[in-house]
Amino acid sequence: MYYVSTRNTQDRCTAAQAIARGLATDGGLMTPEVLPKLSANGLNTMKEMSYQQRAVFVMNSYLDDFTSSELASFAAKAYSGTKFDHKEVAPVRQVDDSTYCLELWHGPTCAFKDMALQMLPHLLTASLKKNQETKTVCILVATSGDTGKAALEGFRDVDKTRILVFYPKDGVSAIQELQMNTQDGGNVGVCSVVGNFDDAQTGVKKLFSDEALRAQLETRGYFLSSANSINWGRVLPQIVYYISAYCDLLRDEKIKKGDPINVCVPTGNFGNILAAYYAREMGVPINKLICASNSNNVLTDFIRTGQYDRNRTFYNTMSPSMDILISSNLERLLFALSDQDDNQVREYMNQLNSGGMYQVSPAIQTKMSRLFAAGCCDDAQTQKVIGRMWQEHKYLIDPHTAVAFDVLDQYRKETGDKTPTVVVSTASPFKFCDSVLGALGVTELAEGTAILDQLSELTGVPVPAPLAALKNKTPRFDQTVTKEHMVDQVLEMLK
Ligand SMILES: *Cc1c(COP(=O)(O)O)cnc(C)c1O
Repeated sequence: MYYVSTRNTQDRCTAAQAIARGLATDGGLMTPEVLPKLSANGLNTMKEMSYQQRAVFVMNSYLDDFTSSELASFAAKAYSGTKFDHKEVAPVRQVDDSTYCLELWHGPTCAFKDMALQMLPHLLTASLKKNQETKTVCILVATSGDTGKAALEGFRDVDKTRILVFYPKDGVSAIQELQMNTQDGGNVGVCSVVGNFDDAQTGVKKLFSDEALRAQLETRGYFLSSANSINWGRVLPQIVYYISAYCDLLRDEKIKKGDPINVCVPTGNFGNILAAYYAREMGVPINKLICASNSNNVLTDFIRTGQYDRNRTFYNTMSPSMDILISSNLERLLFALSDQDDNQVREYMNQLNSGGMYQVSPAIQTKMSRLFAAGCCDDAQTQKVIGRMWQEHKYLIDPHTAVAFDVLDQYRKETGDKTPTVVVSTASPFKFCDSVLGALGVTELAEGTAILDQLSELTGVPVPAPLAALKNKTPRFDQTVTKEHMVDQVLEMLK
């Protein structure tokens, strides 16, 4: 199977090349030319498998330059019991008769980014070998909080790799910042950027297209790649858990073979819900893909109207990992829904770059509204939902997950749709203690990491081990730069 750029389908490469490159040279995203289909009995076959086996089964169909035994060894390492604190890796928890919650935060950094970023370093280092690459790869990451830590943890001390993470100075939670600034490893760097996530992301994209930087790094024996969800190696491991969730529901006899489900996904860069779309295309009976946003509701408007317009106020919310106005992975959806019309995708992206907006064709819009529903939820409502979930179900959820539960509620009220729905839970509530405690009515918050115990004592829910370990760590990184000086950080780190 080959991968092509969403902006030029003549630019074709293998999976290993797509993963090593991260981004196409024309700025497009490398995307499978055809999507593999599950066999008629595929879901049934996977029903009794472990999560690791399901990962091999699914990824195999996209990576024909990798062997099954390679993938099995990656999956065993990525999703081992030392990395994940739940034996099912991505367990499905029943909330009520028709609502399930897919918990994706049992990994080493307590957010769903671990699902892909524990796998990506294995895929990437194997890809470099397959490509006979002699240079060292430097992973540049722009993060709204969770990707940075998950990428640092995934790549720490991985041979032939360096990693440099940029996060918006005032756009991440205190725990998220501490998680990143205390990162161990000899090949890692962390730096904050003045501005919001879009500033950090735009800055990183600029570094990727900086020819002078590229040439200079080459003489030093380095090349740049990405661990953001623009890298196919990030999206692919995410397809697995949607298929796995359906298999769990089948196995536990919550649904019968062929029964439809909906999924509701708290969305920022559109990577997670895009993976759900691919799972659907592969043959998982997903009825509606429900896209949940916070007050940065550019996707809600887009899905409802077909017009993408980033010219609007940016809000810092209590679900910071969704504080995004430019959702990079939407480009892959446009590519799919336009029947891989690279000219059309390029045109939309040019319009987005120049005027901050575009309007999709009626054909794309029709398809989009058949597949997707969308809604948004502000901070006040997010807090109410956290409080209500705790009171009614003794289920402690984080603000991102709460946004999804609220949007599902709105969707059900509007449509009357009773399809069983899987809500995707993307982070541990302990990553966002202050907002969660506030939602539970606490007004006096403990300082620093003591806030973890405060939430635990109030609820009886234990602090996840990786967060409890933060108490004994001292920060290693404290630099802040402006967008214009990110390049200096790269050159400094790769001296
Ligand atoms: C990254 C993130 C999201 C958004 O996921 P996308 O793939 O960017 O849409 C939602 N919630 C949490 C906790 C995250 O870390």
